[in-house]
Amino acid sequence: MAKSAKSAKSILSAEHFHDEVAALAFIEARIWPNGPVCPRCGEVNRIGRLNGKTTKLGMCKCYSCRKPFTATNGTVMESSHIPLHIWLQAMHLLCSSKKGISTQQLHRTLVPHVIDSARIDPFELTPWW
Ligand SMILES: [Zn+2]
Repeated sequence: MAKSAKSAKSILSAEHFHDEVAALAFIEARIWPNGPVCPRCGEVNRIGRLNGKTTKLGMCKCYSCRKPFTATNGTVMESSHIPLHIWLQAMHLLCSSKKGISTQQLHRTLVPHVIDSARIDPFELTPWW
C-alpha cells in the first residue's frame, strides 16, 4: 500500500520544488558538483559560508578576491526576488511540456504559489516573465 502511494507521487512533489533550502541545495549540487567555486577568480579552497542572521541564503565569500557570491551568480535567478523553488517549478514546467508552455499558463499555474511564498499582495502583483 505504501509503495503504491509513493510511486503515485508527482515529480513536482519533490522537496526542492517546495522548500527554499532544498531548492538551493539542488541548484548548488548541479552548479558546484565538487563544492563552491568563486565565479570571479575560480578559487575553490579559500571559500567560506556566510551564515549571518540577515545574510542571503547560500551566500559564500571568497577569501582570495574578497567578494561574496552565491550559486545563482550569472543565472537568471541572480537578482530575482522570486523564491528559488518557484524558479525550479517554472523551469520544470517549461522543459517538460512537449509543446512548450505559454507565459500566461505559467503565470496561472505558479502565481498562487508566488503569493503564498513571498507573501505578496495579489493586487500589487505584476507578471514577472
Ligand atoms: Zn574569488
